[in-house]
Amino acid sequence: MNAPDLERLRPRLPSPLEPVEDERFARHGLTLLLKRDDLIHPDLPGNKWRKLALNLRAAEGRPVLTFGGAYSNHLRATAAAGRLLGFPTIGVVRGDELAGRPLNPSLARCAADGMRLLFVDRAAYRAKHEPAVLAGLLERAPGAPGDVYVVPEGGSNALAVEGCAELGRELAGGADVAAVACGTGGTLAGLAAGFPGPVLGVPVLRGGFLGGEVRALQEAAFGGPRGDWRLDERFHCGGYARTTPELDAFADAFGARHGLAIERLYVAKLLHGLVTLAEEGAFAPGTRIAAVVTGSPEPQADSSR
Ligand SMILES: *Cc1c(COP(=O)(O)O)cnc(C)c1O
Repeated sequence: MNAPDLERLRPRLPSPLEPVEDERFARHGLTLLLKRDDLIHPDLPGNKWRKLALNLRAAEGRPVLTFGGAYSNHLRATAAAGRLLGFPTIGVVRGDELAGRPLNPSLARCAADGMRLLFVDRAAYRAKHEPAVLAGLLERAPGAPGDVYVVPEGGSNALAVEGCAELGRELAGGADVAAVACGTGGTLAGLAAGFPGPVLGVPVLRGGFLGGEVRALQEAAFGGPRGDWRLDERFHCGGYARTTPELDAFADAFGARHGLAIERLYVAKLLHGLVTLAEEGAFAPGTRIAAVVTGSPEPQADSSR
């Protein structure tokens, strides 16, 4: 089989870099720019395109098996790629209690794109990269087990990190500081490798484990540490998918003011963190800060393609 040709999907690359007028930055002499990765492709937005591109090339049209939670943007992007490029996809979903129930809008879209969904209990999900557990999953997948290309949870592996280095190269010269929200840290690991200035990561999960993950991903992708990055662990609002009334109000107001719907799980926390850091005087006057808009809001039950 041949490697799928992603260029056929006409990605909008490099993604636009747009200055926004916001007095919370301007009053400190700062410029906020939005790196609109959410506009790369309507079905594979944001960092998911960058993380999948080299993996899909490596998969060469074989079935792709990957993992995610019930609202995973990564599962949706993988399913869409399979539909658009014509290869089978298998999504291993955390939570066996979901099996046999009506699918939520995110999983419904995966299924509509032809993704075969395998629901597994949380213990098996945690152990998914152990050879025996993975072999069991591959047995439930179509085709010969040796013929399936496995992408880890969140899509983060060495090829994904390499793909995200391009994000940093696109920003070089256009911004002095780059900032991104982090789930698995794969996007940050690549961005920091490609960008010549300091890079800030804002984890949306609590736990303080992410620094080690980013170092491991850079080791796998590049053979050692790259770039000047740091994490600010203060802005997760209690953990993944957690929110506060303050964060919701902030995201609504920011979206209304600047004319774009703000994705809540990641992008809202990043922008809120940047406003706080600007207030704290964390950036020198004159600094141009590029915030990566890594995605768009998830589909609602009534949304159409
Ligand atoms: C997946 C995702 C992220 C997290 O990317 P990682 O590489 O896992 O850190 C950030 N923002 C959005 C919108 C995402 O969908």
